[in-house]
Amino acid sequence: MYPFTYHRPASLDDARARLAASEDGRPLAGGMSLIPTMRFRLSSCSDLVDLNAIDGLAGIERHEGGIRIGAMTRHAAVEASAEVREAIPALAALAGSIGDVQVRNRGTIGGSICFADPAADYPAGILGLGASVNTDRRSIAADDFFTGLYETALEDGELVVSVDFPVPERAGWAKFGNQASRFAVVAVMVSLAGGAVRLAVTGAKSHVFRVPEMEAALAADFSAEALEGIAVASEGLNEDLHADAAYRAHLVGVMAKRAVRAALAP
Ligand SMILES: Cc1cc2nc3c(=O)[nH]c(=O)nc-3n(C[C@H](O)[C@H](O)[C@H](O)COP(=O)(O)OP(=O)(O)OC[C@H]3O[C@@H](n4cnc5c(N)ncnc54)[C@H](O)[C@@H]3O)c2cc1C
Repeated sequence: MYPFTYHRPASLDDARARLAASEDGRPLAGGMSLIPTMRFRLSSCSDLVDLNAIDGLAGIERHEGGIRIGAMTRHAAVEASAEVREAIPALAALAGSIGDVQVRNRGTIGGSICFADPAADYPAGILGLGASVNTDRRSIAADDFFTGLYETALEDGELVVSVDFPVPERAGWAKFGNQASRFAVVAVMVSLAGGAVRLAVTGAKSHVFRVPEMEAALAADFSAEALEGIAVASEGLNEDLHADAAYRAHLVGVMAKRAVRAALAP
């Protein structure tokens, strides 16, 4: 690890001030992704600003428009939340499919979406459910948040404070996970709200994406059969030792159907 100065502010304002005053400061959430990259010297920073002592950044609230999840809310809390299970069970299923117990007890929704790993699960949840990401400066629509490989629309020093999820009529989650890490080889979140369908895929490309052709077919007929014959091109899809591009393209179709069936399950 390269040397850095550690800070543990007790308020969001203090965290912002410390990030602004630092040469190359980074927020620290659960540390599940950031600390390993620092230990391997794949990343470094002048200042590490730990968000764990700030009140009000963690928690789940049900309100009229939907569910608000604080940035520092652990995956295990989302998985176990009665509000999430009742309003958006697919989101609880997504959180429960992340990594292992240790990772779910440390990792946070804010850290996951800010890191924007191409195989992370929450990006598909955010995009597939049409959530909005609230920062200390603005609200960013799901469609604008993930911009590339490990890249988001966040500006320097911008902090995610919460994520707002609208409650869909139906939503389903399906994941083909790596057996060792449980990161998504391919995973799909699908949702139906007011006749509109969103279908988001993670694990298959540099960053999460929607599949308009599948969404149009499902808007006309929300059934797994409606996806018959619709294929995603393998060109440009990720290839690694876990799956080549053609297999990932195949998995997108399979996971999309499973997600729809999960959404229709009683
Ligand atoms: C063994 C293992 C298995 C895993 N399996 C999966 C899996 O199956 N699916 C999956 O989706 N993920 C998986 N993960 C990743 C896990 O979900 C982490 O929670 C996630 O990568 C990062 O969250 P974190 O809270 O640990 O963030 P950190 O590692 O603390 O931070 C990640 C990045 O986000 C930035 N950041 C953090 N919080 C904020 C904020 N509020 N505002 C602005 N920037 C912020 C940090 O500066 C850093 O750049 C796995 C991780 C491990 C170690």
